[in-house]
Amino acid sequence: MYDVIVVGSGATGAWAARCLARPGRRVLVVEAGRGGDAEELGRLLRLEDPPGDLPEQPRQSLLPGYAPPVAPFLVDDSLNPYATSGPGDYTWFRSRQLGGRTLLWGGVTPRLRDDDFAGWPFTGADLAPHYDAVEAVLGVDKAQPLTAAEQALGDACEEIWPGARPGPRPGVAGRPARADESGVLWPAAASPALILQGALRAGVELRTDCIVESLALDGERVVGVHVVDRLTHERSTIASKSVALCASSIESSRILLNSRNADHPTGVGNSTDHLGRHLRDHVSFTVSGTTGRFTGPETRSPRDGPFGIYLVPPDRGYQVEGWAQRGPGRPGQLARFGLAVSAPLSDDSANRVTIHPQLVDAWGIPAVDISFGIGAGDLALIRQAEADVRQLCATAGFSIANVDRHYEQILSYVHEVGTARMSSTPRKSVADPWNRVWDAPNVLILDGACWPTNPPPNPTLTMLAIADRACEAFTSS
Ligand SMILES: Cc1cc2nc3c(=O)[nH]c(=O)nc-3n(C[C@H](O)[C@H](O)[C@H](O)COP(=O)(O)OP(=O)(O)OC[C@H]3O[C@@H](n4cnc5c(N)ncnc54)[C@H](O)[C@@H]3O)c2cc1C
Repeated sequence: MYDVIVVGSGATGAWAARCLARPGRRVLVVEAGRGGDAEELGRLLRLEDPPGDLPEQPRQSLLPGYAPPVAPFLVDDSLNPYATSGPGDYTWFRSRQLGGRTLLWGGVTPRLRDDDFAGWPFTGADLAPHYDAVEAVLGVDKAQPLTAAEQALGDACEEIWPGARPGPRPGVAGRPARADESGVLWPAAASPALILQGALRAGVELRTDCIVESLALDGERVVGVHVVDRLTHERSTIASKSVALCASSIESSRILLNSRNADHPTGVGNSTDHLGRHLRDHVSFTVSGTTGRFTGPETRSPRDGPFGIYLVPPDRGYQVEGWAQRGPGRPGQLARFGLAVSAPLSDDSANRVTIHPQLVDAWGIPAVDISFGIGAGDLALIRQAEADVRQLCATAGFSIANVDRHYEQILSYVHEVGTARMSSTPRKSVADPWNRVWDAPNVLILDGACWPTNPPPNPTLTMLAIADRACEAFTSS
């Protein structure tokens, strides 16, 4: 019998495994996807095309920046279907392999600001020591100097929004690959290299190709997980005293919704009908072009980390991040810039995940239906953001060559959170302020599913800090 089963080995699962490992405690990480594949990762790092047929990816291929080398690190849509209903067609970008989406992520790691915790059951000050701990392990760099062109953009921000404080874009330093003890080359910011290896060294066990279908129930109590072998499709049950859900926001709620018996007739954690509700994401657009007068010698290699400029304009409700510099080895060429704007969608409890009555995946596990829409207020916000960014570029003397309005096509930005929100009020939530499911306190929800709101900054650093806080409380209780 395991003490804890951690479901998923992506960003939050790897961090949870690291926190939960203790001498004498049996911890198992269960990962739906395959284990490390040095050859494939090498191709990703060199941006080479994978050999053979690409997976079927009509949805995954909508990921901004999608190219054949990343295809093996996103799911095959034909094996992993989901339905959409409601006014919008939500695109759910998913990875199923050891490390989850950390094999693809950009490593941009801002903290939430104090105001962003309005409506949360804890404050920014409560989370601060956990942010410190996560940043130290990830090697987050928050002090990379701005280039001259970025400085000009920052000056333009302050001219337009007095009091705005644009600064360096925080990110995980050191993008080149790191080899683990078995010689597998992982991108440096990926969870297996950075975090999971430490947990495995500390005695955590790992089972890959093992898909969690639902929680195993004995009356009201959760007593483990029901799993399906990805390769043989055989079903079995793994017993544990507690379960930490880290399968990513929508998938963790899918597991809870699929966990039913007479005591939990609509799923574990759903006694108040909040499970699956309040799905949130960001919508985004990118702007790129040339910076005009900046031809200076400064260059920054993308392999150093995702460094650049970062700004949350005061009282605007969106985030701007990007870079402006002259490309390496191109003397005399105009500096270029690229800015990404992401804006949270306003709350709508109708943005909801439910279990589809017929649709199942390739392993016979009931799939989700995602009902999602974007409101008129959301569209007004993102259009205002585009007008603001145009003004910002004009003030800095930058020329815009291209605007990609991703939100017109995908209504998501790989920053999905919510569906099993936490609160100090049981009747309005699924989990308590320490991430324990009210209806089953031996189940922790450690990924973005627990978020009560979705502020503008990129979410992953905060997901890890929340997991760190919850695991600390769990291990000391
Ligand atoms: C291209 C790209 C760029 C990004 N850039 C950034 C960025 O710069 N900054 C930022 O903050 N965020 C970024 N993100 C988002 C970031 O990757 C996610 O927020 C983060 O990975 C979420 O962590 P997670 O643990 O919830 O999910 P994941 O990392 O997706 O991990 C989930 C894991 O659970 C496993 N799993 C799923 N279902 C099951 C099951 N039923 N049973 C067992 N295991 C299961 C999966 O295989 C996977 O390994 C980016 C994402 C992408 C795709």
